Amino acid sequence: MTTLLPDPIGHDALRLRLIQQVGRGTLPSSLLLHGPAGVGKQQLALWLARAIVCGGASGPCDTCHQCRMALAWQHPDIHWVFPRPRLKDSDPDPADVRADLAEAIADRAKALGLYSPPAGNEGIYVATVRAIVQGVASAPSMAARRIVVVGDAERMVPQEGADQAANAFLKVLEEPPPGTTFVLTSSEPGALLPTIRSRVVAMRVGPLADRAVRQFLERPGVRPALAAAGLPADDDQLVAYAGGAPGALLAGAARAAAVADARQLLDAAAGPRSARFKAAFQQGASGARGSFSDVLDALTDVLADRVRTSTERDPARAAAAARAVLEVEGAKAAARQNAQPSLLMARLLPVLAEAGR
Ligand SMILES: [Zn+2]
Repeated sequence: MTTLLPDPIGHDALRLRLIQQVGRGTLPSSLLLHGPAGVGKQQLALWLARAIVCGGASGPCDTCHQCRMALAWQHPDIHWVFPRPRLKDSDPDPADVRADLAEAIADRAKALGLYSPPAGNEGIYVATVRAIVQGVASAPSMAARRIVVVGDAERMVPQEGADQAANAFLKVLEEPPPGTTFVLTSSEPGALLPTIRSRVVAMRVGPLADRAVRQFLERPGVRPALAAAGLPADDDQLVAYAGGAPGALLAGAARAAAVADARQLLDAAAGPRSARFKAAFQQGASGARGSFSDVLDALTDVLADRVRTSTERDPARAAAAARAVLEVEGAKAAARQNAQPSLLMARLLPVLAEAGR
């Protein structure tokens, strides 16, 4: 049996409060779980979904028919959507959206809940919004209630020509159809559309205690996954690195790798010509550790840092770094239009060379 996602770790007080509200029938019908990235908000939302379809007094019992269906990700009344790259078909139908999400959910389950935050090109686009609205149009099919979990809900963005879908979503969010509960999650609640924020009851999910992070590390498969991402094997270091958000560990590792790549690139740019060419071609190759866009993001940060630290001591160096930031931003825009990384890098290197000196 495929388990959907393991139970959340920690958040005991919040879980108790949620279960009591389910029991009393006072759980808000549209809920926002917000808190730092990687503390397990979506995991908590899915656990709540299982608790709701089960109806157990202290959370999902894991043994009843509803629970077994939910754990095998077969329950027709639990829906989970989150940001995805735009589908190739410009106007995909809800079935395509659901198939794409099912694949992504299987990946997340395989990754033991250790998935990266959404990439820049991932969003909750209009086709997904339409699929959500369509999915709640009929009565729940197996349980008394249906739950729709919307992860990283701030990635739901207004789109041209999508007013109808957006309005339909706001309407169901404000007044969910009978038997429907919405659970939105966000680590950037300030970035949520105000029209969405005003329609949900917010609950904060805080960072985990170190003890809970250690519990997370004990899970089968977690340590190998972290080691594969290049993280240290030392538990104390990992706990410090997680900062109460174990789900952010992989993102932290990817980010550190991208920053290292960015620094290396700056050094190479300022070095001899041969090193420059090598750096350009390496970025184009798949062997680069971070993705090209991650490296560009890291470059912006490294350069911006240089502007800050050099403005007083070395204004010329600060100015060169500031010029490079602009060029990197241009390269990011071109990369989004699918320009070739090695070509962009060849154009970028002379500017980076000025900044790297
Ligand atoms: Zn149950």
